[in-house]
Amino acid sequence: MIASELKGIGMTSQRTRDRLIARLRERGIDDMRVLAVMRELPRHLFVDEALASRAYEDTALPIGHGQTISQPFIVARMTELLMQSAKPMDKVLEVGTGCGYQTAVLSRLVPRVFSVERISALLNQSRERFYKLKFNNIRLKHSDGSWGWQENAPYDGILVACAPEKVPESLLLQLAPGGRLVIPVGTQAKQSLRVIDRNGDTFEETEYDAVSFVPLLGGQI
Ligand code: SAH
Repeated sequence: MIASELKGIGMTSQRTRDRLIARLRERGIDDMRVLAVMRELPRHLFVDEALASRAYEDTALPIGHGQTISQPFIVARMTELLMQSAKPMDKVLEVGTGCGYQTAVLSRLVPRVFSVERISALLNQSRERFYKLKFNNIRLKHSDGSWGWQENAPYDGILVACAPEKVPESLLLQLAPGGRLVIPVGTQAKQSLRVIDRNGDTFEETEYDAVSFVPLLGGQI
């Protein structure tokens, strides 16, 4: 990756990125760690070149295979909710790697990041991206994330980037004591962001903003 490509020019420049950060702050994101990472991370390298000029708009964009890169505000919000857990985040699982942008944000804040994706074409693209960008604390797996990723459990945090109608039990069971799950739950018509904290064998759920994620689908392709 050459330096100019990383830094961006024109619509992908640092100034454009700074404007996005200002908007995230206006909308209520106040975790400075999250804002600092998103200010540095070149989102335009995670979308198709034809869409690069729109990478710093606060919107979701298509990434192929009927999927989208999440809106920056939502990435910031979910990351902030995860990082504000009482338990320090040492090991985190993400479900739904997609183009890898959310994964990359996490990898700058958490020592060990695991991510699973059910569409192999997306996973392979992301694998290549992380290699080029030299992000080497991320482990990826092609799999149906409803089952989590048992081999590396328990996780201090789990962040789910697609919406199931009901929280998968495996994810709850793979949380460490004191761990936190951040997940959108509901149908395509009505979803909300939930935070679930594990205390021993009890789970405490808090409901946040209404959101609109692609559905969590079973199986892998
Ligand atoms: N974090 C991503 C968001 C991608 S959209 C980003 O920043 O780009 C959500 C992703 O979840 C899609 O790529 C979709 O294929 C994936 N997904 C849906 N159901 C899944 C499942 N059961 N297991 C793993 N990934 C799943």
